[in-house]
Amino acid sequence: MKTTIIGFPRVGSLRELKFASEAYFRQEISAEELQETAKELRKTHWALQQASGIDWIPTNDFSFYDNMLDTAVLLNAVPARYRALELSDLDTYFAMARGYQGKEGDVKAFAMKKWFNTNYHYMVPEIEDTTEIRLAGTKPFAEWKEAQAQGICGKPVLIGPFTFLKLARFTGEKTAEDFADAVAAAYCAYLKELNTLGAAWAQLDEPYLVMDLTKAEIALFRQLYTKILAAKGSVRVLLQTYFGDVRDCYADICALPFDGIGLDFLEGKQSLSLVQTNGFPKDKVLFAGAVNGKNIWRNHYDRTLQLLDQLKPHCGEIVLNTSCSLLHVPYTLRHETKLAEQYKKHFSFAEEKLTELAELAQILDAPVPAETAAYQKNTALFAEDRCCSNAAVQQKVAALTEKDFVRLPAFAEREKVQKESFQLPLLPTTTIGSFPQTKEVRANRAAFRKGEISEEQYVAFNKKQIADCVALQEKIDLDVLVHGEFERNDMVEYFGECLDGYLFTEKAWVQSYGTRCVKPPVIWGDISRAKPMTVDWSVYAQSLTKKPMKGMLTGPVTILNWSFPREDISLQACAYQIALAIREEVLDLERSGIRMIQVDEAALREKLPLRKSDWKSDYLNWAIPAFRLVHSGVKPDTQIHTHMCYSEFDDIIRDIDDMDADVITFEASRSDLTILDVLKENHFRTEVGPGVYDIHSPRIPTTEEIQNAISKMLERIPVEKLWVNPDCGLKTRGTAETVPSLENMVAAAKACRAALKQ
Ligand code: GLN
Ligand code: ZN
Repeated sequence: MKTTIIGFPRVGSLRELKFASEAYFRQEISAEELQETAKELRKTHWALQQASGIDWIPTNDFSFYDNMLDTAVLLNAVPARYRALELSDLDTYFAMARGYQGKEGDVKAFAMKKWFNTNYHYMVPEIEDTTEIRLAGTKPFAEWKEAQAQGICGKPVLIGPFTFLKLARFTGEKTAEDFADAVAAAYCAYLKELNTLGAAWAQLDEPYLVMDLTKAEIALFRQLYTKILAAKGSVRVLLQTYFGDVRDCYADICALPFDGIGLDFLEGKQSLSLVQTNGFPKDKVLFAGAVNGKNIWRNHYDRTLQLLDQLKPHCGEIVLNTSCSLLHVPYTLRHETKLAEQYKKHFSFAEEKLTELAELAQILDAPVPAETAAYQKNTALFAEDRCCSNAAVQQKVAALTEKDFVRLPAFAEREKVQKESFQLPLLPTTTIGSFPQTKEVRANRAAFRKGEISEEQYVAFNKKQIADCVALQEKIDLDVLVHGEFERNDMVEYFGECLDGYLFTEKAWVQSYGTRCVKPPVIWGDISRAKPMTVDWSVYAQSLTKKPMKGMLTGPVTILNWSFPREDISLQACAYQIALAIREEVLDLERSGIRMIQVDEAALREKLPLRKSDWKSDYLNWAIPAFRLVHSGVKPDTQIHTHMCYSEFDDIIRDIDDMDADVITFEASRSDLTILDVLKENHFRTEVGPGVYDIHSPRIPTTEEIQNAISKMLERIPVEKLWVNPDCGLKTRGTAETVPSLENMVAAAKACRAALKQ
């Protein structure tokens, strides 16, 4: 049995590409030096795959920033504003990725969007009416030749024409359909060139096929590939899908003359049944995605063998594959020096997954698979008790009943009680939680971590920061204060470190976008709260002011979505465990005199299933209850806030209201405020603080501007429900812009209040 992978992480095991790129952006190294680093990385990654025995090694999975952006450039979709800068090819590319400010001009970057249901973000190609789509680049060919020089017949990887067109933004009058012929012709030219080179397989990635598709979309897909496949020559074309199943177009795919079809048998709930019920064309190779490309646990060989046994009767040749590109997992376990072997042996990062593929292929080829050493070792590993369960936690989850998810009294009554109790002015002003994280704040945390300062010194420093922050907020005259979050590096890692059941890595970085990587913690076992996590900070902060101090927590769904989850229990069970831990913290805060508690759900939308039909059953039916569980135990006059980092919730507006928070703040300043209409139409019940200014930019908004924003909001939202706040936390901003921005915001709120009185 042959093996392949869909793509390999490209940033490097020690994030070499990130550091080289950033050095290049700062003009510390030359373009040639950056290219050299890139070439070295490609070479290393290919050699590794070769040494592991991978048969079809991907090429062109490398990218300086993003593969979608690479595809746009390859297809000549470079908007005029970037061409006008007349920069080198590499710098034009980076201008599209990051924007450009210089004597040549001032242009914004392409928009960035979440890549399907991952935490990776791609650059959204822009297609103008004047864009002339054609094959205009050589990157895939150059990289194929580079691999060839290393003795590798690469499998060039490219985003397919359908996914490219579906994800692009059309800035003029024309639509995807208008460009279909030109795009198909460009892909024909691409395949022709691969024929000339002598590539055996060409992989075209079409993850968009796992979405809910309309008839028109399927027609577009068929139109594109009918043209492309008619001209393909001797190179074999692999249609690669991932992140789900292709239930809407399985028959169409099978009917087209592809040489190989790649299906995801892990996230694709119906992939196996599609093959079993409809059969699989014997003249095509099935690329079976059976090794998880998204999670970090070892593959359970026995299960994979069972899957293949079920597939074999229906298929001709099967190639063993990952479920998606390994881009979404960290690079290697080799650099994890602090994690004990007892844990590590259960994990598999990109490099280890290569070995798993090779071992699986050997096992499958063996006369008696069950007798192979690799199979037996793996079976023994999975038979072991990981010692990760906590009976008390499991009992608590099992004992939950419907009423644990319902806060009483109902919203309207609470709202009355709270208005009475807090006596806030109309349009109360507040912030989202964090204040600027200065160099000193970071240095203090780092010094404590390294053991260079004592805990007393660490705490004293933070208390001083809190005191300054409270004094500043009182001076600015905000109505509801925060402590500033100086103790937090990250809104998930901080809580993970205070929770039992979590593990942390040293170097397990995963690319989020461009040069930015994240290091998600690992949920190893049942989660419980080891100790109060924020109570001391909040209580201290409240002691400094008579105004309400918001307690500040991260919600269970966000903690879960930004971690590597377990595979031996359901996401729902895991979310409820985290929710119970956060609930204890909420109740502790309340007991300690904190009367407003914010539970951030920044990432609530992130794991919303790709297919709408799965939204409720697979996600919202437990994600929303998990949030409710966190706060259902508080008193009527304790006010629960939540915060979300986006305003794209038109389609889940009822569910957001169902979280039953008392107040929600969210990003709105960059969107066109259409969310306000949606709130109005749906009689949104929760009080709302749509951000009145954008904290992602260093710009200081004027009082007038903010007043205008508030006035617009008042046209749609009843005045007694509206809060005034920035659109996200201030941690990435400097003090120099934060103070005047907040001053202007408070002045604007006061001016609006005065106007309302008249
Ligand atoms: N409370 C957090 C902060 O203010 C929220 C961050 C977020 O929404 N990403 O930083
Ligand atoms: Zn936010």
